Amino acid sequence: MGILFGAAGNTQSFYDQGYKSSLYMPGWLNERGLNAYEYQCTRGVNIKQETAQKLGQAARDNSITLSIHGPYYINLATDDQEKQKKTKGHIIKSLQVAKWMQANKVVFHPGSASGASRIENLEKAKKLLYKIIIEADKEGLGEIKLAPETMGKASQLGNLEEVLDLCKTFDNVVPTIDFAHLHALGGGCLNTREDFAYILDRIAEVLSEQIVEYLHVHFSPIEYTRAGEKKHRTLLDEGFGPVFEPLAELIVERDLCPTIICESKGRQVEDVLIYKEIYNKTCKNKGTL
Ligand SMILES: [Zn+2]
Repeated sequence: MGILFGAAGNTQSFYDQGYKSSLYMPGWLNERGLNAYEYQCTRGVNIKQETAQKLGQAARDNSITLSIHGPYYINLATDDQEKQKKTKGHIIKSLQVAKWMQANKVVFHPGSASGASRIENLEKAKKLLYKIIIEADKEGLGEIKLAPETMGKASQLGNLEEVLDLCKTFDNVVPTIDFAHLHALGGGCLNTREDFAYILDRIAEVLSEQIVEYLHVHFSPIEYTRAGEKKHRTLLDEGFGPVFEPLAELIVERDLCPTIICESKGRQVEDVLIYKEIYNKTCKNKGTL
C-alpha cells in the first residue's frame, strides 16, 4: 500500500454539487484521485448500522481507506465517574461503527490537561484507556486501532510526548500526528526539514520505524495565538503554516507510506489535492516517479 491522501469529512464543494449523503463521498473522492476518508463522528456517534455498512461497502468499491474521528466529548483524564462512563461509551461506539464500516482506526482527542499536573492527567488517561481497551476486547472490537491525536492547545492533553507515551503503553494504540496542531502548540515551530524530521525520528525512537512508515497524519494550515490553536485555515488564506514541502521531501526520501488527511476548513479535498501535487512533484524531482 502506497501513500494515501484524503479528507476529514465532506468538503463544501461536495454539498455545492447537490450531494447530501456521505454515502456518495467515497465515489466522489475516488473520481478526484484520492484514497482516504476520515468519517466524522465529532459531534457524537449517530450513524446507524445499515448506513455504516453501506458506507463501508462504498469505500471498498472505490478503494478508499476509512478511518473514524471520534467525538470531541472524549476526556480520558477526567475524575468524574459519569464523564468517564460517557468517554468509554463514545470510544466503544466509535469502535463499533469502525467495525461495521471496516474502518481501520478511531482517531480521538485524549482529553483535558487542566485540574491536575500534566503527568497526573496522563496517568489518569492511561488508567481509563486501559479499562476501555479491556471492554473493547470483550466486545470483539479489539482489532481496530485507537489513535490519540496530537493537540493544538496547551490546555489539552496530547502534546507529542504524551501521545507517544499513550501509544507506547498499549498494543494497538497508534499516534495520529496532527502537524497543524503541533505547529500551533509550538508557536509556529514547523518550518524546516529538520523540524519535521525531529518529529518522525522521535516517533521511531519511542515507538518504531514501522509506525512512522504507516503514520496517520492530519495536515492543514492553521491560525494560532499564544494559547495555541485558534482555527484551521485553508491554502487560500495566505501566511498560515505549516507548509507541506519539507514533510513531502522526508516522505519521499524515507520511502514512507503515510495516510495524509486534510482538515482545511471547507476545502479538505481541494487542499489535499494540492498536497498530493506537491508530493508528486517531489517524487519527480528525486527521480522516483
Ligand atoms: Zn481531531
